Amino acid sequence: MILPLDKSRIERIINFYPMRINPYYLSLIKHANCPIGKQAIPDIREIDDVNIAGNPDPLCEEIQSPVTNLIHRYPDRVLFMVSAECAMYCRFCMRKRKVGYPSVVTDETRNIGIEYIKNNKHIQEVVISGGDPLLLEDQILDYILKGLRSIDHIEILRIHSRVPCTLPQRITKDLVDMLRQYHPLFINIHFNHPDEITKEASLACGALSDAGIPLGCQTVLLNGVNNEQNIIKTLMKKLLTIRVRPYYIHQLDVVRGNHHFKTTIEDGLDIMQSLYGISGLCVPQYMIDLPGGGGKVPLLPQYLKYDAVNI
Ligand code: SF4
Repeated sequence: MILPLDKSRIERIINFYPMRINPYYLSLIKHANCPIGKQAIPDIREIDDVNIAGNPDPLCEEIQSPVTNLIHRYPDRVLFMVSAECAMYCRFCMRKRKVGYPSVVTDETRNIGIEYIKNNKHIQEVVISGGDPLLLEDQILDYILKGLRSIDHIEILRIHSRVPCTLPQRITKDLVDMLRQYHPLFINIHFNHPDEITKEASLACGALSDAGIPLGCQTVLLNGVNNEQNIIKTLMKKLLTIRVRPYYIHQLDVVRGNHHFKTTIEDGLDIMQSLYGISGLCVPQYMIDLPGGGGKVPLLPQYLKYDAVNI
């Protein structure tokens, strides 16, 4: 499709934040203002945010990084950034200060990360993130997984990826056959709207599930994209049909360049309340990341209407 875009405006934005929309994701866009288009097409408000000097790293990831591209916030697990590239650059990305700049992650930073994990015996779980790990070449990802699996104290490997949603064709038989060697391996995918659940995405998720990889979904609430009860309810139900278990709904981590996607916590709580009553399998936890690097906490709708002792 041809999008009616102002080239000079787009160029101003992508000087700060790169753009990538692959042909598959482009094919899902009905028009620039549809929920899929809003996630992918640069918006001048990203630059307004730069001008008002929002914080690029309010979650303090950098100061919680003992080595480059590895965040050690909780004692028993780390987040390991192994790629700075994605199949599509989401305009709301909370790590937009880094993604889209491939040189941010190198063989050297990956090796230093593996070494750090090897030397810290209380780490039991590694969240392999980015950017998007599944966009790496098979051999590079295999090298990373092999390195991590060879460490005795590592029990769980978890990959965070948007690829099954934004470029499902990347989930090839070769990739799946490589991944299945590294159990227990979990993959958390990131779908935000029911229109992203296509035949192609279903095939990709089916192939990963058939390889014994449990799949979860982390959805981000985004203003104008999915902050409506019916949209989220439909999304949660559709996820189950492709064997992906809703895991988290996230309050957006607001960073410089994404303020226009911010929703209210009230909206989020109402959405959560609307999910109760449908299958419990469809109900994820609603999470917020505390600014200042304090970690994630769950948010719950208020149900207690009168003194529970008198029930
Ligand atoms: S796929 Fe994830 S890391 Fe990549 S741009 Fe989107 S939200 Fe950011």
